[in-house]
Amino acid sequence: MEPAPVPEKPSLPKLREAVQECRACELYKGTTQAVLGEGPTRARAMLVGEQPGDREDIEGHPFVGPAGAMLDRGLREAGIERSDVYLTNVVKHFRFRARGKRRIHQRPEREHVQACRPWLDAELAVVRPRVLVCLGAVAAQGLLGSKVRVTRDRGVPLDSDLADVVMVTVHPSSILRAGDDRAAAYEAFLQDLRAVAGALTTPA
Ligand code: SF4
Repeated sequence: MEPAPVPEKPSLPKLREAVQECRACELYKGTTQAVLGEGPTRARAMLVGEQPGDREDIEGHPFVGPAGAMLDRGLREAGIERSDVYLTNVVKHFRFRARGKRRIHQRPEREHVQACRPWLDAELAVVRPRVLVCLGAVAAQGLLGSKVRVTRDRGVPLDSDLADVVMVTVHPSSILRAGDDRAAAYEAFLQDLRAVAGALTTPA
């Protein structure tokens, strides 16, 4: 595999163009495009999910599917302005297996997260968010190490030098899968996002 072709002096437009040429792992095969993060260059919070889903792969934007709608609702109800938030994923191509005409989400492996890390590091270097939030175990363990447990460590600041405040919470897609527990799962998610909102209003 080739190294990720991250530009030497990255900007978000340069990264967005360069990531389309990435062949640092096999996940580009069969996808529509790579999906870089989106949001203001100087966003105060960066939220990092797992990977683009089916809709994101087709449309080329992160968090535009049902999980994105859940996240939007949570941000709105927690009082976090979208203009404060840069949304991205630890893996930039959609990993799936084909079942007939459908593409079924497959969780990326650790090797994919590692291969894709230079893109996230470049986004962090450009945006330099004050608050970093990992959404779900793949992002949390990919960025903070395998000892992190989302259920145990969620909603509180964790020890990391990636940003002034680093937190983890669930991926919004897990709320969609929570069945009868969906309301409680959403409430817990909202509580975590309120902690993020609190960190954003605390002076640096
Ligand atoms: S998933 Fe990441 S590392 Fe793999 S090809 Fe896509 S951009 Fe490159």
